[in-house]
Amino acid sequence: MIKDLEILIEMQKLDDVIGEKNKLVKSLPKELNTLIENLEKAEQSLQKSKNELKANKNYQKKKEVLIQSNEDKINKYKDQLLAIKTNKEYKALNSEITHLFKKNSVIDDEIIDLMERESELQDMIKAEKHKQKEAESELKANEEKIKQKITTLKNDIDALREKRNKMAKNIPIKILKRYAALIKNKNRKAVVYNDNNNCSGCGYQIRPQMIIEISEGNKIIYCENCGRIIVDKIN
Ligand SMILES: [Zn+2]
Repeated sequence: MIKDLEILIEMQKLDDVIGEKNKLVKSLPKELNTLIENLEKAEQSLQKSKNELKANKNYQKKKEVLIQSNEDKINKYKDQLLAIKTNKEYKALNSEITHLFKKNSVIDDEIIDLMERESELQDMIKAEKHKQKEAESELKANEEKIKQKITTLKNDIDALREKRNKMAKNIPIKILKRYAALIKNKNRKAVVYNDNNNCSGCGYQIRPQMIIEISEGNKIIYCENCGRIIVDKIN
C-alpha cells in the first residue's frame, strides 16, 4: 500500500476518535442542564407548597376572626333577649342566634379541613426540602466533575488534532484538501473500506476493475457515488 493511503487511514482513525470525543463534549452540558432543571423543579414545588401554606394560615385566621365576630353578635343578642317584651321579637332574635350558631359550626368544619391540609402541607414541605437538598448536592457533586471532563476531552481533542495535522503534512495538499472536505461534509468519514464490494460509506456497488485497484493499494481510489476514499481494509 502506498504511504499516502497508510497515512490517510491513520488520520481517519484519529478523526474517528475526535468525532466521538466531540459528541461527548456536546452531550455533557446537557447532563449538567438536567441536574440544574431537577434542582429548579424541586425549588419550584417547595415554593408552591410554602405559598399554599401561607395562604392556608391566612385563611384560617380570617375564619377565626369571623367566628369571633359571630360569637360577639350571639352574646349581644343574648343580652338583648333579656330586655325583649313580645314573643314575636323573642322568636326572631332567637332564630338569629340559632342561625349564627349554625354558621359558626360550618366555619368550624372549614377550619378543620384547612388544618388537615396544613398538616399535609407541612409534611410535603419537609419531603420537598429534602428533595431540594438532594438535587442541590447532586448538582454540586457533578458540576465540577462534568466541567473537568469537558476540559479533559477538549485537551484530548487538541492533542489528537495536533497529531493528525502532523501526519497531514506528509500528504500532498490536493489530497489533503479533499480529505478535509470529506471529513467536514460526509459525516466525518473520509476513508472507508470495501465492504463486500460495496462502499462502506454509502453502500454503492464498486466496479470490478476498481475492486482490483483498491486491493492493490497503489493509488487512491474514490467512491464513484460519495467521493470517499475507499481502501481494502481498515485495521
Ligand atoms: Zn461511497
